[in-house]
Amino acid sequence: MLILISDAFDSSLPEKLKKFGDVTDDKGRLAEANIVLVRSKTKCTKEYINSAPNLKLIIRGGVGLDNIDRPYAKEKGVKVFNTASASAIAVAELTMALMLAVPSNVVPGHTSMADGRWEKKQLKRTELWRKTLGLIGVGNIGTEVARRARAFDMDVIAFDPALDGHEIAKMVGSVDDIYEKADFISLHVPLLDSTEGMINASSIDKMKDGVIIVNTARAKCIVEVDMARALESGKVRGFGNDVWYSDPPPPDSPILKAPNVVMTPHIGASSKENLLRIGDVILDIIGKEAS
Ligand code: NAD
Repeated sequence: MLILISDAFDSSLPEKLKKFGDVTDDKGRLAEANIVLVRSKTKCTKEYINSAPNLKLIIRGGVGLDNIDRPYAKEKGVKVFNTASASAIAVAELTMALMLAVPSNVVPGHTSMADGRWEKKQLKRTELWRKTLGLIGVGNIGTEVARRARAFDMDVIAFDPALDGHEIAKMVGSVDDIYEKADFISLHVPLLDSTEGMINASSIDKMKDGVIIVNTARAKCIVEVDMARALESGKVRGFGNDVWYSDPPPPDSPILKAPNVVMTPHIGASSKENLLRIGDVILDIIGKEAS
């Protein structure tokens, strides 16, 4: 059996996988591979799957499966797994980091001081305390964010069509309730037809003036040009963003130049601890599927 590690995983993983067979990171050996391990960089399109006639299993280290043509994989008898809940803590912690950094002016504070300026008077902060956080999607990651936001005494409301109730968040009946009530909005939905472009000029119009938005889910849930305009006008007070239309984004991405943005290069899942957890889940899956 040949296991092809196609994207970046913890450096200890290849050694741990050797008990199952040969392990390679040589993408030129795709045609021989029985198992392919990917994160988000490798795109498992029809062409990719057709180039791997021996493939039985694709394992996505992480959550979103939008880089894998699942219907075609199924047609070809290739099983697809992700490491669903392993990344929840890592992404929730980055979400909180962005949610704190934006209203606390951490980045302007740092850059102005590094440039030799002392902007104590200009950089007025806003607290999370007793603000309403609206979660769009409250699955694995949304739940961990809700738990942490409650520790900051935020009032946590959530919209998720799959859930009637939730252990921590107060569920609301429609996404418009989130737009109308939330001081902070954080996205934790997969990229689906129903979520693509859901944050756009018209939904932003329904939000409170000065809302702060955080996106650690998928970039395409937000229409970037509409977000950039809302940041320019101040309708959206700040935007914490980890996810991009492409990794890396094109230099003309309107988010890169928009005001009041704190951005990270798609590192939500990239904690050392998470890469180890993902590795453990992969070993479990291969243990079950290959035996
Ligand atoms: P999950 O499947 O546990 O939860 C997603 C929730 O979204 C589900 O409960 C689902 O019912 C809900 N949902 C679906 N459509 C909705 C809609 N229209 N409105 C509101 N809710 C809706 O997934 P998760 O583990 O919480 O991950 C969420 C997303 O985070 C992933 O799909 C992925 O895109 C993203 N993610 C990003 C990173 C990163 O590095 N930034 C890492 C992991 C995951």
